[in-house]
Amino acid sequence: MSHEAPAEEDVQGAKRAVVAGGGVVGLTTGLAVGRAGFETLVCEQDPEIRGVGAALGLWANALAVFDRLGAGETIRAAGVPSGIRYQDPAGQVVDEYYGDLADVDYVVLTRQRLNELLAEALGPDHLRTGAQVTGYRDHDEGVVVELADGTAIDAVLLVGADGVYSRVREQLSPGETAREHPGHLAWRGIVAESAIPEITVERYVIGRERTRGGVVRSGGGTVFWVIAQLKAPPVNGSGKGEALARVPHLYNGGWPFAPREAIEATPEDRVVRNRVLYVPRQHRWVSRHVALAGDSAHAGSPHITSGASLGIEDAAVLADLLTAHPDVPGALQAYEADRVPRYAEVHRWADQVADAADEPHVYAKEFFDIIRWMLGR
Ligand SMILES: Cc1cc2nc3c(=O)[nH]c(=O)nc-3n(C[C@H](O)[C@H](O)[C@H](O)COP(=O)(O)OP(=O)(O)OC[C@H]3O[C@@H](n4cnc5c(N)ncnc54)[C@H](O)[C@@H]3O)c2cc1C
Repeated sequence: MSHEAPAEEDVQGAKRAVVAGGGVVGLTTGLAVGRAGFETLVCEQDPEIRGVGAALGLWANALAVFDRLGAGETIRAAGVPSGIRYQDPAGQVVDEYYGDLADVDYVVLTRQRLNELLAEALGPDHLRTGAQVTGYRDHDEGVVVELADGTAIDAVLLVGADGVYSRVREQLSPGETAREHPGHLAWRGIVAESAIPEITVERYVIGRERTRGGVVRSGGGTVFWVIAQLKAPPVNGSGKGEALARVPHLYNGGWPFAPREAIEATPEDRVVRNRVLYVPRQHRWVSRHVALAGDSAHAGSPHITSGASLGIEDAAVLADLLTAHPDVPGALQAYEADRVPRYAEVHRWADQVADAADEPHVYAKEFFDIIRWMLGR
């Protein structure tokens, strides 16, 4: 086992925190925990910071965290302020619950740009790419974080923000593996705005056959499209073909909505196709010096469009508790006590929305109810 001598010298007297995973939650955690006085290092396994999965909508809870971290203005400027207003395939508004959420901060932007901006805010000294965390060893005063290249890093805190297949979760709670949300599929892509000139405002549709979709501006001259289906029949075609086959569930024609044009303008190899995965409800989020955040702890179905926003919230809660508590184990206990009941509610609400997939009005109502609850409105 080799120790990183220069890194150890750099942080003499300081508190080192390692974050496994340089996705949106890991990068935000790096920033937030850094602000809490820790010398942070975010370790990302990929050779570069990417944003897999097209674009994201960020709710007010996430934007408020970015504001506190000094990154809110840049992130808002890179995206497009939006709103979710569900229509049906004929263009009629499905939900009458939209009105009082119209003033809510909601911004759509590409994942790539979001993660680039967060990495810039974090700074290169606090980010290591090509660095896969393979495990850790707990000891009384901290944790030794092990990387695939044989490096070992001493830290007082390891945050596993390493996504749905988390190695950190696997060690913290063996056997708690990610599962398929049965029959739930999603197709996504990004195209140039010029490819679909008819788009005038954001469009989200709850359609037939438990299918929903959207075509939305995502900043920098891009447009994001997404189609998802609950209880989907088995698929075996190309991603593009499968997405196109679902357009009739979403669109009767006769009003400005351009899912077909958006899909057709996307090269086949740029269509992101997912079988949706989730992480079963976790009762254990921490040990004395290790904590989970983001999808590693609570990956859920995307039908509540809130996984990243909630994970960003995790980062802020963790950082606040690390500031408030004199010791890391005490802060992590308080973090677990805060997060476990909140996610019990998230799971309950999310199941309720999914159960309403065959009834668009109920689905929309349940969706906006969970968003209101998440935002404390
Ligand atoms: C179709 C779909 C649409 C969605 N839409 C929205 C939305 O509109 N709004 C919203 O809030 N949420 C949305 N979500 C949820 C959102 O995508 C996730 O909640 C969010 O990406 C989780 O971020 P994360 O950083 O925890 O994980 P990830 O984004 O998965 O990042 C994990 C990172 O860790 C790295 N990594 C993994 N293992 C290791 C390791 N051992 N060592 C080092 N690095 C490692 C990975 O390479 C990756 O970079 C959607 C999800 C889906 C599937």
